[in-house]
Amino acid sequence: MMENRDPLSTAEVIAVGSELLGTTRIDTNSLYLAGRLGSLGITLRAKSVVGDDRRELAQALRAALDRVDLVVLSGGLGPTDDDVTRDAVADVLGVPMAEDPAIVERIRARFAKRGLRMPEVNRKQAMVPSGATVLLNPLGTAPGLMVEHGRKLLLLLPGPPRELKTLFESLAEGPLKERAGPHRLFRATLFVTGQSESQVEEIAQPLYSRRLHTEPAIETTILAAPGQIEIHLSTRADDAELATRLLADARAELAEALGPDVFSTDGRPMEQIVGELLAGRGWTIGVAESCTGGLLLSRLTDVPGSSAWVTGGVVAYSNAMKSLFADVPPELMQAHGAVSEPVAVALAEGIRARAGSQIGVGITGIAGPSGGTEAKPVGTVAIAAVGPEGPARVRTFWFLGGRTQVKFNATQAALDMVRRLLL
Ligand code: AMP
Ligand code: MG
Repeated sequence: MMENRDPLSTAEVIAVGSELLGTTRIDTNSLYLAGRLGSLGITLRAKSVVGDDRRELAQALRAALDRVDLVVLSGGLGPTDDDVTRDAVADVLGVPMAEDPAIVERIRARFAKRGLRMPEVNRKQAMVPSGATVLLNPLGTAPGLMVEHGRKLLLLLPGPPRELKTLFESLAEGPLKERAGPHRLFRATLFVTGQSESQVEEIAQPLYSRRLHTEPAIETTILAAPGQIEIHLSTRADDAELATRLLADARAELAEALGPDVFSTDGRPMEQIVGELLAGRGWTIGVAESCTGGLLLSRLTDVPGSSAWVTGGVVAYSNAMKSLFADVPPELMQAHGAVSEPVAVALAEGIRARAGSQIGVGITGIAGPSGGTEAKPVGTVAIAAVGPEGPARVRTFWFLGGRTQVKFNATQAALDMVRRLLL
């Protein structure tokens, strides 16, 4: 019989494993859990990483139980001596553990399928704190456990990310969904390019600040990401239709105010947006890259189905290669320098002709850290995009940051030039 309980509204994640405190392994489970808890409408209040130490884990667990409704423990459910999550939980709850013969049989069968005998140490994974519900793990030997503790709920999930996700997904469809209460988190995003974070803030702030007071309220976060500014909108509501409509309104209002600098309103990355614009026209693109070393072509071909609209490209790093593969006249480079707008245009036109594409892109620049001059400092990149008609679009950018950042920003700017050409 289900008793009437308060919904779970707050959570804490404890990632267990001494390896996660070192320099070689990173705790990715809590990122996944943060996202999933959020969409269930459960607020993640804290997360921590604790080594394989029974007393320290017990301490962290007690603190977590003091402040939140749901504690999710990841890892430490293995068969070896250093896997202590079960023990620490039994210590804190003050309950005995007993071996569950059904789990022993499942583990034994798992080994038998591979023609192996179950090592005795695996019996440890069948130890269940009194009152816990066993969560069968189809992908590994360690079952998960769900324990009710007064009004609180504890989840013990295996550390391997695939296993953790599989168990969590089935909980999210069942018991967690019921316990989470009617509120869900709804989100919307806009990606903006060609403006700085503060420019976006200046335009967006008066609009989104009003939406903080609607019911349900819409929260807005503006984040600078590589090559783009992201606006994240979210709201907690029990009425999905209302939440979705309010978010769509807010997004449309921001998109209108920010204009064509908004390139994506549904999370699709720039390369995919460009690909879809090309596909819509039945056009293809060819690229000649110098300082980006193939990154542009790599990003374009990250998009599934890109063979329909990418012909290919060249990495023409040296001047000789620029002439050899994109027909850039050596005199042009002599006259203007390899990093110049006329050379970017020549690269774009040369590759467009060679590739037989409607769109050609040329990128030439100085990624650094050396090679800069007073007139053309590190980060100077000339980018050109040409289509079947009209003059080439060409622009010189001065990107900030290290080599990786300059390269990425150059590809983003090139993609954006193509996007605007296709609009
Ligand atoms: P365990 O359940 O502690 O035996 O963990 C088994 C394996 O899962 C570890 O060796 C890690 O590779 C992985 N793992 C454990 N915890 C995490 C975590 N928080 N994030 C990502 N991987 C993890
Ligand atoms: Mg471990």
